[in-house]
Amino acid sequence: MADVFTKEKRSEVMSKIRSKDTKIEVLVRKWLFAHGFRFRKNDNRYPGKPDIVLPKYKTVIFVHGCFWHGHENCKVANIPKTRTDFWLSKINRNKEKDVLNTEALRKEGWNVIIIWECELKKNPEQRLANLREELFRIEKNF
Ligand SMILES: [Zn+2]
Repeated sequence: MADVFTKEKRSEVMSKIRSKDTKIEVLVRKWLFAHGFRFRKNDNRYPGKPDIVLPKYKTVIFVHGCFWHGHENCKVANIPKTRTDFWLSKINRNKEKDVLNTEALRKEGWNVIIIWECELKKNPEQRLANLREELFRIEKNF
């Protein structure tokens, strides 16, 4: 099936998708704050400039938009039918960067938690409850 959008429209649509990432980040940050977790955001001292850094838990959180980060087997992450190669190479580059950043962070002793957009949208309460459990588990292991 051909892309329903013109090239220009597609760029516009994609830039909106990108700004949606920010919305889901905000959701996670608000939840963390409301539950007493203290964090820094977009700390560029660390590989990949994690969306959220929880120093007390030695944990970083990436809130990934499924499209931009190429979530495997995810229907939110469908590649557009036009300029497919362009999008594929862009998204593959992002995925490679994500892997390298995660490895670098883990090597420095950080716990890396990835929250996917689709998980948050499908069931935010559940995803955030899981996050809380993960953080408590990490805290206990200190
Ligand atoms: Zn997804």
